[in-house]
Amino acid sequence: MKATSRKVAFIGLGVMGFPMAGHLAKAGHHVTVYNRTASKARAWVERFGGRMAHTPAEAAAEAELVFACVGNDNDLRQVTLGDTGVFATMKVGTIFVDHTTASAKVERELATYAGERGIEVLDAPVSGGQSGAENGTLAIMVGGKPEVFARAEPVMACYGRAITLMGPTGAGQLTKMVNQICIAGLLQGLAEGLNFAMRAGLDVERVVSVISKGAAQSWQMENRWRAMVEGSFDFGFAVDWMRKDLSICLEEARSNGALLPVTALVDQFYAKVQKLGGGRWDTCSLIKLLTDS
Ligand code: NAP
Repeated sequence: MKATSRKVAFIGLGVMGFPMAGHLAKAGHHVTVYNRTASKARAWVERFGGRMAHTPAEAAAEAELVFACVGNDNDLRQVTLGDTGVFATMKVGTIFVDHTTASAKVERELATYAGERGIEVLDAPVSGGQSGAENGTLAIMVGGKPEVFARAEPVMACYGRAITLMGPTGAGQLTKMVNQICIAGLLQGLAEGLNFAMRAGLDVERVVSVISKGAAQSWQMENRWRAMVEGSFDFGFAVDWMRKDLSICLEEARSNGALLPVTALVDQFYAKVQKLGGGRWDTCSLIKLLTDS
C-alpha cells in the first residue's frame, strides 16, 4: 500500500469510468464505486477489489476525493444534488472532480452549491478516448482553484498525463469545447478527402501514407482512415456523445459571440448519421453520408 493512498469514490463506471476507477485501485487508493446499473459496480469490485455503494451519497460519505464520469449536465445534477447526491454527504474540505464532458454553466452551478457547503469542485473533462482511459494516458483539462488542483493532480495522474489547470471553474469544459470544435471540422475534411481519393480511383493507403507525412497529418487521419474507407464504425467515440458535446459548444458560442459555421454544419451531418441508425457509431462515420450518395 502506498503512503499517499487516499479514500476516494468514483461515480459512473461506463466506458471511461470503469478503467479510470480501476487505475485508482491499482495505485493503492481505497476506492468505493457507485454505478446506476449495479451489475457494473459488482463486476468492477470483483475485478479490482474495493467497495460498492448503493447511492452516490453513500459512496461519497467517507471520501477525501470524489470523482464522477457520467453522461451529460442532467446526469451530473442527479448524482450530485439532492438527498442521494454526493454533496449530501461530502465533508468540508473534500474535493469533487468531474470528468464528465458537460457545460461550463453546470460546473459553475455545482461549484457555487458545493462552495456554500465548504466542498471544493474541479471540472476536469478528458480527451484520449477508451484507449486513453484503459492505458491511463488521458489528457485532462481542469478548471478550479490552483491549491485544489495541486491536491487532486497526483491522484488524477493514475490515469492521466498532460493534466493542465486552465483557469477558474468552467475553464476545463471550455477547453474541451475547443477540442471538440477542432475535431468536428477536421473529421468532415478528412471524410471529403478520402471519399474524393476513392472516387478518383487512387490507392487510398498510398495516399494516406504520403500525405500523413506532410501538412495534412492528424491523429484522426492516422487512426481513423482505415475505418472510414472500410465503412466499419462499430467502435470508438459515439455520434450521440459528439452531438451532446457540439450542442454544448453551440450554446456557449451563442453567449460568447464566437462564430461556428462549420461546427454547426457538421452537427447537422451527425444528425443525419443518427437518422441512419448510427448514434453509437464512431464519429468518423461522417464519411457514410458521402460514400452512400
Ligand atoms: P458511458 O459508457 O455511456 O457511461 C456513462 C456512465 O454514466 C454509466 O456509468 C452510466 O450508468 C452513468 N450515468 C449516466 N446517466 C446517469 C444518471 N442520470 N445517474 C447515474 N448514473 C448515470 O459513457 P462514457 O463513454 O464512459 O462517457 C462518459 C463521459 O465521458 C461523457 O460525458 C462523455 O462525453 C465523456 N467522454 C467520453 C469519451 C469516450 O471515448 N467514450 C471520451 C472523452 C470524454 P449506467 O451504467 O447505469 O448507464
